[in-house]
Amino acid sequence: MIKKVDHIGIAVKSLTDVLPFYTDVLGLPLLKIEEVESQKVKVAFLQAGETKLELLEPVSSESTIAKFIDKRGEGIHHVALGVESIEARIREMKEKGIRMIDEEPRPGAGGAQIAFMHPKAASGVLVELCEKKG
Ligand code: ZN
Repeated sequence: MIKKVDHIGIAVKSLTDVLPFYTDVLGLPLLKIEEVESQKVKVAFLQAGETKLELLEPVSSESTIAKFIDKRGEGIHHVALGVESIEARIREMKEKGIRMIDEEPRPGAGGAQIAFMHPKAASGVLVELCEKKG
């Protein structure tokens, strides 16, 4: 059911400030930067071998990422697991008694369909299910 860790989401205050660490110090290729309006974030994807890092900068104080940074500071925000047939996976999770933040898939960065589980389902880890179409 789970294909791989698709990416790890990291909350940052400023992409401009932190990107040089990832691109110059670690030497990771920057795949793209895009704004995801539904989540009020600017996102940078870096290729890290088989998986990716997703740096998330809030573009509004209303963004859940802004609230996360206020509360806990910058750092790891979520782990995204790549799946197929995300609707079926969400149904399956609900059948297993897992509380979902998203009961329906919604558009994420890179044209993916995503759904978050409630962090209480995974010992405080925010888990994203992520399906790349096409
Ligand atoms: Zn993500």
